[in-house]
Amino acid sequence: MDEMPYVSVLIPVLNEEESLPELHKRLQDTLKGTGKPYELIYINDGSTDKTGILLEAFHTDDKRAKVIEFNRNYGQHMALFAGFEFAKGEIVITIDADLQNPPEEIPKLIEKAEEGFEVVATYRRHRKDSLFRKLPSYIVNKITAKLVGVKLRDYGCMLRAYRRNIVDYMNMCPESSSFIPALANTFAKKITEIEVGHEERKKGISKYSPFRLLRLNFDLMTNFSLLPIQFISMLGVVIAILGLLFAAFLVVRRLMIGPEGEGTFTLFGILFFFIGIQIFALGVIGEYIGRIYQEVRRRPRFIIKKELM
Ligand code: UDP
Ligand code: MG
Repeated sequence: MDEMPYVSVLIPVLNEEESLPELHKRLQDTLKGTGKPYELIYINDGSTDKTGILLEAFHTDDKRAKVIEFNRNYGQHMALFAGFEFAKGEIVITIDADLQNPPEEIPKLIEKAEEGFEVVATYRRHRKDSLFRKLPSYIVNKITAKLVGVKLRDYGCMLRAYRRNIVDYMNMCPESSSFIPALANTFAKKITEIEVGHEERKKGISKYSPFRLLRLNFDLMTNFSLLPIQFISMLGVVIAILGLLFAAFLVVRRLMIGPEGEGTFTLFGILFFFIGIQIFALGVIGEYIGRIYQEVRRRPRFIIKKELM
């Protein structure tokens, strides 16, 4: 029982009382089947349903089930950061609690990690989500691949395996917002991607509203590159040049045809365009400054209310 775990499974949980019993059973069966010492670390991310009670019962029943409980909701990626700090395994697996990622795929991930891959990513075969989720995902995958410099088909799938060294590197990152799959890839040399099944969400509801998804994607963009801000500067330069050319044109026109009387609305049109860009630019700069502010305050990233280890 007290064996050092070789595999750690991290499960962030927000109000998943309906999925938990089945999930726990399937995780236990799958991991027992591998014959390797393991631990299941559930991170209770501020659930308000019976999740807490269920998790405590899992722990009472089997000490390999461990629980970290946050004082409130900090988001899936913070939950995983907390999990990484506690995980003892040589191979660390992350998985969603809603049974959309089948636990039975875990042995495949372990096998790949043992072949020497530092990160085993996955992509969802026949992803069972709405088009409204899949289309933005597709775009974000493309952008992330560019920003991080590692092409993966599916950055959004959280069923993944990481080797110990990658987990140690991630534990050295004290940032207060991040996107874990992208972060891991900035450290790893050997990355592979395998296909896994994907189920529809049968119980409970998705914890990501469109607004939260947007925030997550902002995290992704601003945490991994200065591209948005550099893009704005470039745009500024281009617009300044265009403005200059336009002014020169007006001077020449005035000399040759005389003053323009009815150009007021053209001027408004041009002005509004520039004002729009300026406000947008301010927004982008504000986004970065807000993030710098968050970091310099050095508040704890999350507060752990209870630990069952
Ligand atoms: N989750 C969490 N904290 C959050 C949001 C989600 O711990 O603030 C967990 C959730 O319980 C689930 C996983 O993260 O285990 C993925 O969430 P969900 O299935 O709602 O996301 P989707 O599949 O809709 O992208
Ligand atoms: Mg889900």
